[in-house]
Amino acid sequence: MVKAAKQMLQPEFQAVLQAMLKHMPHNKDYLVENVVKPFILSDDDYKKIMDVMLDSFNQGLGKETNAKAAVKMFPTYVRSVPDGTETGKVLALDLGGTNFRILLISLDGQEVNMESKIFLIPQAIMTGTGEQLFDHIAECIHKFMKDHDLLFHKIPLGFTFSFPCRQEGLNKAILTHWTKGFKCAGVEGHDIVQLLHEAIERRGDIDVNCLAVINDTVGALMSCAHEDRKCAVGLILGTGTNACYIETLENTELWDGDTDEPHQVMINTEWGALGNDGSLDFIMTDYDKQVDKHSINAGQQIYEKMISGMYMGEIARLVIEKLRKAKLLFNGKGSEELSERGRFYTKYVSEIESDGDDSSFKCTKQVFAELNLTKYTDEDCRIVQYVCSLVSTRAAYLASAGIATLLNKMNRPEVTIGVDGSLYRFHPHFHDLMEEKIRQLVKPGIKFKLMLSHDGSGKGAAIVTAVANRLALEKEQKLNAKNGIPNGE
Ligand code: ADP
Ligand code: MG
Repeated sequence: MVKAAKQMLQPEFQAVLQAMLKHMPHNKDYLVENVVKPFILSDDDYKKIMDVMLDSFNQGLGKETNAKAAVKMFPTYVRSVPDGTETGKVLALDLGGTNFRILLISLDGQEVNMESKIFLIPQAIMTGTGEQLFDHIAECIHKFMKDHDLLFHKIPLGFTFSFPCRQEGLNKAILTHWTKGFKCAGVEGHDIVQLLHEAIERRGDIDVNCLAVINDTVGALMSCAHEDRKCAVGLILGTGTNACYIETLENTELWDGDTDEPHQVMINTEWGALGNDGSLDFIMTDYDKQVDKHSINAGQQIYEKMISGMYMGEIARLVIEKLRKAKLLFNGKGSEELSERGRFYTKYVSEIESDGDDSSFKCTKQVFAELNLTKYTDEDCRIVQYVCSLVSTRAAYLASAGIATLLNKMNRPEVTIGVDGSLYRFHPHFHDLMEEKIRQLVKPGIKFKLMLSHDGSGKGAAIVTAVANRLALEKEQKLNAKNGIPNGE
């Protein structure tokens, strides 16, 4: 029709019509835009999310409101950042969701040496019994110690256990519930240090004592604070998402530890659970609802499921499938792989976006090949790239709203945020997107810096454990002196 109309017009009018058509929305683009629209949130939406967050944080901190709060704001027993004088040799465990690592760390002031090994946790163990899980962990510790000639040494151990725990002491942590694909029977409601010690005793061939349990957010904070004393927030963007920050004892109504200096404590927010009470329903898309429905913890970790590595690829896949079925992608023809739940990995999002303005779409085409997609146009590449960028941008902005809420709440003039996790580390734009959005959302005058934490889970556990070990030795020496026992015996 347009063609016929054009033919009827004089050449000068044809030129005008051409220019007009150029500025009209392309029909396909318009339809795609309609599908992805729910991922584009306004400034007002992000401000509203921050209000919801602050409200949830305060409910978690309040004595009367904590029991019902979605975000638990667990006080850790870590009270101060390192002073850089920490020393000693420590064994650290890092159980975070995707990998299990054991590390041997030597601290000597600013000098830190690490050796580490990754062990696999088989799927059957992730969803088996707690006894199987801790027996497996103890076996890995034995292997690691044997390989490092440590079998006949007594060595302090720090455990970075990155699941929601109610701590009753530095080495007493009760798992409230599993997240991130773990579901081992008989662990929820129990002290994970006790379960670990029991497994070690069952073997009877290693001598390790777990002195500290920390969350990976605390690990990220501590490891960055080791270099930068302004670090007061720890952020994880990996399999899951979570953050911790330094709160005053006055605001921590559930604090039951001692109240000597410093009058502060690190709070493990467990912010992934934001929205479990329905408070984020106003931004949830159909795709978020599907991801939640098919997860092993439906109705839980709502905020986490919109952001982190375990879910982001799947959100993108669902949108891509929706567009394909509407014949807006791949001419309607997909592949078995593309239709398989969980098969579009979050690393694909990073790879596709790393093509940037490169019109050859090198990485995107490689991902398509891995998904057995053979027939596609450059426009398909462009649309998939656009979908990925919208899903990851929303994730980065949502995490930014959380960080801005914490920065505004702490109200310190300058704060460094220690960040760990593969999503943040490897996504090509996450850092820049977050910097831009936090700047926009934070109170004027507050300065901040996002700092990548190197091996935070290991280094952080080592720092906390080394301090706990020193304090324990000092206490023992004092006690011995009081009882007239010479030290070292
Ligand atoms: P954990 O959080 O379990 O300690 P990681 O920090 O390594 O482990 O995060 C693992 C998560 O990171 C996985 O969900 C994975 O999908 C995601 N991931 C791995 N590589 C990339 C990448 N290149 N880009 C974005 N996400 C990634
Ligand atoms: Mg980790």
